[in-house]
Amino acid sequence: MAKTNKGKIGVSTENIFPVIKQFLYSDHEIFLRELVANAVDASQKMKALSVSGDFTGELGDLRVSIVLDEKNKTLSISDNGIGMTAEEVDNYINQIAFSSAGEFLEKYKDKIDSIIGHFGLGFYSAFMVSEKVTIDTLSWKDGAKAVKWSCDGSPEYEMTDGERTQRGTTVTLYMDKDSAEEYGQKGKIRQLLEKYCRFMPVPVVFGKKQEWKDGKYVDTEEDDIINNVAPLWTRQPSELKDEDYLNFYKALYPMHEDPMFWIHLNVDFPFHLTGILYFPKIKERMAIEKNKIQLFCNQMFVTDHVENIVPDFLTLLHGVIDSPDIPLNVSRSYLQSDAAVKKISGYITKKVADRLEEIFKENRAELETKWDNIKLFIEYGMLTDEKFGESALKFALVKDSEGKFFSLDEYKEAVKDAQTDKDGNVIMLYATDLESQYSFINAAKQKGYSVLHLDCELDSHLVNYLETKIEKVRFARVDSDAVDRLIVKEERIRPELSEDDKNDLSEVFKAVLPTGNEYIVEADNLGADAAPVLLTQNEFMRRYREMSALGGGMNFFGSAPASYNVTVNMEHPLVAKIFEQKKALAVPEDKEARKGVMADFGKGSDLVRLVSDLALLSNGMLKGQDLSDFLGRCSKALGEAYLA
Ligand code: ADP
Repeated sequence: MAKTNKGKIGVSTENIFPVIKQFLYSDHEIFLRELVANAVDASQKMKALSVSGDFTGELGDLRVSIVLDEKNKTLSISDNGIGMTAEEVDNYINQIAFSSAGEFLEKYKDKIDSIIGHFGLGFYSAFMVSEKVTIDTLSWKDGAKAVKWSCDGSPEYEMTDGERTQRGTTVTLYMDKDSAEEYGQKGKIRQLLEKYCRFMPVPVVFGKKQEWKDGKYVDTEEDDIINNVAPLWTRQPSELKDEDYLNFYKALYPMHEDPMFWIHLNVDFPFHLTGILYFPKIKERMAIEKNKIQLFCNQMFVTDHVENIVPDFLTLLHGVIDSPDIPLNVSRSYLQSDAAVKKISGYITKKVADRLEEIFKENRAELETKWDNIKLFIEYGMLTDEKFGESALKFALVKDSEGKFFSLDEYKEAVKDAQTDKDGNVIMLYATDLESQYSFINAAKQKGYSVLHLDCELDSHLVNYLETKIEKVRFARVDSDAVDRLIVKEERIRPELSEDDKNDLSEVFKAVLPTGNEYIVEADNLGADAAPVLLTQNEFMRRYREMSALGGGMNFFGSAPASYNVTVNMEHPLVAKIFEQKKALAVPEDKEARKGVMADFGKGSDLVRLVSDLALLSNGMLKGQDLSDFLGRCSKALGEAYLA
């Protein structure tokens, strides 16, 4: 090689530097990751050569060392890895790297915005922050000569013999003015190293450990290694204890409570993937943190935005995924359709489902105690991921109003004798609020029915989902109808009322019920012990309203007024009395006039008020002035009854 060799870096790449500088602006900081990753690679290759016996000399202590000269604004990354010969520098730095960057440019020149931020330009990302970059390198090969390469950011480089005597490579960046401001302090470099290199597989040294001496921090003799070279996910699950997983979680998320469960991923074929996923404790359901999973590529941090790589519901999990098979140099939208990514995402989903099933089978008690904390995640998964949904039918739990847990199969078996209707459907009754729906739950229990407690935001969607997935099962909220009609076992005989009586009834009750809702009034025989009047909300109307409130798209239902069924129990003595009083009224021929008479009668009748207030009260709908008036009337009536 001539003493000095000047060259021009590939003709097609004249415009690479402006692209590097401008378009990848948002992610300038990855330069450090890329350079450290190269140094780590070179070290690992060195180790491999030694293991294979190709290299028999002194391996030394393989490490990567970062040195920042705050004064001169230079940053160097040194390794004692394989180094490069002049020929290799020419091949890998002058030719190959540029040609692949050239290809990349060619491909994306029209849609530069779609370039993802995480495109690794490898070595050349150094130019995002430097006005000049030098490489000092000495190859491990016998008789190799040291090489010095330097390039000032124009497509021209200079290559000369170097002075280096130790095997390995030092890349030195002469930071440009703006970058020196941003990256020229030790604190900033440390922060970047901690973010990107925290788990790299070769020790990364940044200065010396410090100690407190004579009133200030001073350097000790000991190197400050910023990384853990064997993070938990790279180790064998069989040698790890619960405590190890919990400690690792704490290290990743210092401010979080302990996780509920974890899954150690480990696959070699047909792709490489390792990692640990944690189910976080979900405290505040609406404040769930997404994007807590960190993606690594051979222990190099890539991103904590894993959407499009794992199914949406899994982004609620925490932890790490490490795979060299996830393509990083493509746009995010492309990722979703990438076959390898699809396989990986399917694998992770299956693993999560398998683990939950295992816990269900082997550690049911633990699953039950933690269920309330993870059910949102599982229900979300069931509703959004078909495969997961199918698996989850086996291990998803439901809880009855007494707090007892069942699997879906167990529950169906438990209630089917008492709760099968005349068409052979098992009707699963549920309550969303044990307090406000108490009277309905109680009525159902007295009838020998069981009531589920479904209090999760997603339950109205889930109930629809389960009806399509489990044969011959229907759900009904316990307050959606009179208890006798929730599960219709045989054709029932309804009271026969004349058209006039039906219309009268409707006017009488509508006159006293709160305005703003719709009421459908009907008469039925519910027995003398049941409530005189029952207010219920149609199951399907209510479900659609809830779903559209959650963003189910059925906005028509969301904006319609609430609609209630008012069932007047003809077998109740108070109702019989109201009917008697109504009979005594003088009714006009004219239909409209008759309505008016009925409304006035309703408003003026203490009895009508009483029975409808009772109905409102058991739905938690009697409030404010109405409640206070009701209580006033009650105490008056009680006083009269007792003091008479
Ligand atoms: P990539 O790492 O993706 O191959 P780079 O542009 O980062 O692309 O590097 C190109 C090549 O230069 C590497 O594949 C490697 O052969 C060589 N190289 C870069 N840095 C080093 C280093 N510190 N030691 C030895 N070889 C290196």
